[in-house]
Amino acid sequence: MKPTNNCKICGSDELHVFLKTQDYFLTNEAFDLIKCDQCGYIATYPVPANEDLGKYYDSKNYLSHTAAQKGMLNRMYQILRSLNIKRKYNHIVKYKQNGNILDIGCGTGELLNYFSTHKWNATGIEPNAEARTFGTYSYHLDIKDESELKNLTLEQYDVISMWHVLEHVPDINHRIEQIKKLLKPDGIIVIALPNINSYDAIKYGRFWAGLDVPRHLHHFSPNSFNELAKKHQLQLLESIPMKMDSFYVSLLSEKYKNNSLALFSGFFSGLVSNFKGRRSNNYSSMIFVLKKE
Ligand SMILES: [Zn+2]
Repeated sequence: MKPTNNCKICGSDELHVFLKTQDYFLTNEAFDLIKCDQCGYIATYPVPANEDLGKYYDSKNYLSHTAAQKGMLNRMYQILRSLNIKRKYNHIVKYKQNGNILDIGCGTGELLNYFSTHKWNATGIEPNAEARTFGTYSYHLDIKDESELKNLTLEQYDVISMWHVLEHVPDINHRIEQIKKLLKPDGIIVIALPNINSYDAIKYGRFWAGLDVPRHLHHFSPNSFNELAKKHQLQLLESIPMKMDSFYVSLLSEKYKNNSLALFSGFFSGLVSNFKGRRSNNYSSMIFVLKKE
């Protein structure tokens, strides 16, 4: 099957089926990945209709990892999460020491809470109502529904972040233009994405957990993401590896392959991915820091 649309980034109609995969996480439905020969951007096909997207999100388990949970594994998860939050914070304060931050797809708001307790004005956008309510009441954060993005005051944010969010957004061009308008002229945009050119992506192929179809509608490499950035007059300031993600994604990919030694194989694959990433600068997931040209 080939989509009738042109490439979302460069407009080329030279598209081909790159990989056939399925939703290993929830529905087992089959999807194709369609690659543009010109810029390398890859799209999930077919794209579920907007009203059907919700059924691919297992919202029952959304809050399974929140502070309310107890137990050893959950404790470990929380330690890793708080390390992760500090790391993200440190990447951002290299550029901006305080101000207004907008986190789109903020989930239950733990990252925003950290910024908020460090004298930032924090605003969140989160489509999941349950997560929004949790963050609002637990951390007293200002978390709005996605539909309110268009009502925010223009040029008011020093930092706009989307951590593993852009790949879920149906209209990427519209979203990038929207956040550009909300950003102060000297503000920064921080976007984290899985990297389809990473060692673990290539190793696991259709089983790679970073594909996560059809929740992920777009699949980027650092090169194709840079094409998108250039198209919207955004300049790449820095790309940063997310080394923890290679372990998590490899472990999940091993599970999708039904490997009984998933924990061991996944850990090993994560190590190799980070080692190879050092040379190729193609890590499992990457953070891109951008500013307006
Ligand atoms: Zn293209």
